[in-house]
Amino acid sequence: MTDNFINIKYIEDLLKNAEHAKTSEIEIALSKAERNETLTHSDIASLLKTDKQEHINRIYKIAGNIKKRIYGNRIVMFAPLYVSDYCVNRCAYCSFNAGHDYKRRKLTMDEVRKEVKILEMMGHKRLAVEAGENENECPIDYITECIKTIYDMKFENGEIRRVNVNIAATTTENYRKLKAAGIGTYILFQETYHEPTYNRVHPAGPKNDFTYHLTAFDRAQEAGIDDVGGGVLFGLSDPFFDVMGLLLHNEHLEKKFNVGFHTISVPRLCPASGMNINDFPNLVDDDTFAKIVAIIRIAVPFTGMILSTRENREMRKKLLRLGISQISAGSSTSVGGYSLRENNTGESSQFLVNDERSATSIISELIDDGYIPSFCTACYRGGRTGDRFMSLAKSGQIGNVCLPNALMTLCEYSMDYGDNAFKEKTNAVITKETENINNEKVKAKTIENIKKIQNGEGRDFYV
Ligand code: SF4
Ligand code: SF4
Repeated sequence: MTDNFINIKYIEDLLKNAEHAKTSEIEIALSKAERNETLTHSDIASLLKTDKQEHINRIYKIAGNIKKRIYGNRIVMFAPLYVSDYCVNRCAYCSFNAGHDYKRRKLTMDEVRKEVKILEMMGHKRLAVEAGENENECPIDYITECIKTIYDMKFENGEIRRVNVNIAATTTENYRKLKAAGIGTYILFQETYHEPTYNRVHPAGPKNDFTYHLTAFDRAQEAGIDDVGGGVLFGLSDPFFDVMGLLLHNEHLEKKFNVGFHTISVPRLCPASGMNINDFPNLVDDDTFAKIVAIIRIAVPFTGMILSTRENREMRKKLLRLGISQISAGSSTSVGGYSLRENNTGESSQFLVNDERSATSIISELIDDGYIPSFCTACYRGGRTGDRFMSLAKSGQIGNVCLPNALMTLCEYSMDYGDNAFKEKTNAVITKETENINNEKVKAKTIENIKKIQNGEGRDFYV
């Protein structure tokens, strides 16, 4: 046992027993999920292990209903910003690993500004700063300087309003610095909760310490960062083991800090330069991946789920229906990649992007598919983080703020970046969806604010 909340034998026994779960037991678990009751670990394991199509169809239906009930048709948009690819680790799946010989770089503050300007011109308001681990080239003070540089930038159409950070596990002291710099969510993927696999794919570098990595969120919480986002890299180990690990990690944080993951990311292992995809025997096929996303949605209904551009358009469409609430658009996964793309220069990216469409075409397609792309950052800016956010989410009242905020930020986006046809399409959605705001006062205020945005009389409204 590595730590008391990830007990390998406990998880393996759960999954082994689930192989023999009776149909009646699986159906009881499904009925509990339909009644929005909390599932036990054995319930979740039995759903993961079932391969009967009728069960899987029910899992999809339940997940789809939860998605609709809690998140409506809103999809929060964000973009990654890679600032440094110097890395001392040797993660076997990542092209930034120290053994991969290529020319590395980190952005100067001027280059950060250039990248942010391009991202802002795409309409983004929420970024995830990403960097490899290298204390000399990329110390914590460099990251906090990036955060400050980003927040200090003001454009004609607004500014980046939330900076999430995805950097290596670090000390409580460094987390305090991130907190003081105004971090949004601190994101860190455990990659895999299966310690022997973890040790094998992280053969050298500080990331080799499984327990230090596993307890990073405890240190972040102790330093005052109450929005943390977990994830695993599906394809490293048995994916069902990793789902159970994620859920146990979430329970640990809930017990200890009264708040679990704000978000869960579900990246799937994909090819990257400097690695051979055939070295990984646990790759997850599309059907298993969809089932996993649906089961996580059922198990932790109030936790946002993030999908990156690793997935292609068709997979994204499917997973949005099953539980994904946040996606990136127009992403580059290389340092300085947005400027390089503008200049048509080659990139050295962390992994291959499978959805290379521009942000505008992804956003336009989301609207055509009946979604409301949202650029909302209200909770963070209004101090609604950690357990304050979770209690609002669990009360079922979160939709009363998410919907008006989604509509107001979409209106801003269409005014700033849309052509006439896009504006027309967006206006129709906004008019229709405003009717779905239940609170009459909030509805009236939203209509008033949208008119102000459209007439150029104000912006950046939120509730
Ligand atoms: Fe470095 Fe992160 Fe890539 Fe590992 S996954 S090699 S820590 S950048
Ligand atoms: Fe997210 Fe809060 Fe905005 Fe809803 S209101 S989309 S939870 S930031």
